[in-house]
Amino acid sequence: MTSPILPPSTLEGIHHHLVGLKMPLALEQLDAVLRQLEQGELSALEAIETLLGQELMSRETRRIKMGLTMARLTPIKSLDTYDFSFQPTLDRNRILALAELGFVQRKEVVHFLGPPGTGKSHLAISLGVEAVKAGNSVYFTSLAEVTASLAKAEREGTLMQRVRFLARHGLLIIDEIGYLPLAANGANLFFHLVNACYEHTAMILTSNRGFAEWGEVFGDLVVATALLDRLLHHAIVIQIDGNSYRLKHHAAMLPEGLLHSLHPFLTSSSPGHRGRPAKDRK
Ligand code: ADP
Ligand code: MG
Repeated sequence: MTSPILPPSTLEGIHHHLVGLKMPLALEQLDAVLRQLEQGELSALEAIETLLGQELMSRETRRIKMGLTMARLTPIKSLDTYDFSFQPTLDRNRILALAELGFVQRKEVVHFLGPPGTGKSHLAISLGVEAVKAGNSVYFTSLAEVTASLAKAEREGTLMQRVRFLARHGLLIIDEIGYLPLAANGANLFFHLVNACYEHTAMILTSNRGFAEWGEVFGDLVVATALLDRLLHHAIVIQIDGNSYRLKHHAAMLPEGLLHSLHPFLTSSSPGHRGRPAKDRK
């Protein structure tokens, strides 16, 4: 295009620079912005600001989208959609403080403990999303999945590469500790990973089992103790003692026995605690 206010060589130069700098969105917007400039709707500085701003925004959107895909954070959850009034034992301000991501910088371990459906995965994913937005590399997996992938790597002679891959993220989220029995050697493989992450990679772990039950979860008291030694050293423990959000509308339809085994809190007048965690150091 031509412009009455810019000589053709200048316009060509701008085109050339935008292509060289790989700024496709600014290039796409150039004609429209020049028109606004000619019509006096934008000053020259505002025109530059618009072009740069749109390019930056599109890059940020692309970066976040890519980061979320690489992190495998699906389905996406956010703290905005978490109903804190449904979990009165949970301190909203503590969760909002976690969203500031100091724990990621300090390479600490956040534990979410509580019965099924209390939003542990929701909160872990939400914090993962915040970490991606802030520019951290994040990886989300479950204990069953990560130990299976470590076992596969061990069989293929690539265990150390796999451990290094997982530990080089800014934040590693390991969901569902305690739901499924670990395959043989799973505890030892997980220990390799935790050792590599210790004071090096921030982690979020979620579990329906208290720390006192980890010997049973990992099928080995010695390994469980060594794991907890590392995972509780720089740790923030968030216990959610509440009802399942999943059963919110259907609790009345469940038989009493099942309801109680799912959620002692739902049916007992004095809430029980399954394997209370060690006290939060904060
Ligand atoms: P958990 O991991 O503790 O078993 P999830 O995080 O998977 O629980 O929660 C189960 C479902 O309920 C998810 O769809 C989640 O988004 C939703 N959910 C849980 N707690 C809340 C809450 N307090 N407010 C809004 N949605 C919630
Ligand atoms: Mg979960």
